[in-house]
Amino acid sequence: MADCLFCRIIAGEIPATVVAQDDELLAFRDINPQAPVHLLVIPRRHIANSAASEEDDAPLLGRLLRFGCRVAAEAGIGDSGFRLVLNNGPDSGEAVPHLHLHVLGGRRLGWPPG
Ligand code: AMP
Ligand code: ZN
Repeated sequence: MADCLFCRIIAGEIPATVVAQDDELLAFRDINPQAPVHLLVIPRRHIANSAASEEDDAPLLGRLLRFGCRVAAEAGIGDSGFRLVLNNGPDSGEAVPHLHLHVLGGRRLGWPPG
């Protein structure tokens, strides 16, 4: 989608600090980190969010979660702990309508989330 921020990052039109990628997924640093480690993992194919995913997307969603765990471990927070977050819709604060998994860690994270 031409007007989608994360599609433009995938297309290389907007710079990002990429930490890992494969043929389906891209992981990069969040531009406004909320923790010492704050990465985003996105599918190359545009899906608005996890609530908009379809049954056929289930394998991709599984790989997204596993990729998030992999980049967390590679960032050094695999043992200290981390949080994976998928925001959906206005009350969640979702701002970018391209599915993205937040990978947060490197400090004690509060619960419940704000
Ligand atoms: P959400 O609120 O779940 O939609 O999260 C969107 C995230 O994208 C926020 O944490 C932003 O800081 C992040 N973000 C927005 N623009 C960029 C960008 N150009 N590069 C990296 N992260 C971005
Ligand atoms: Zn997109």
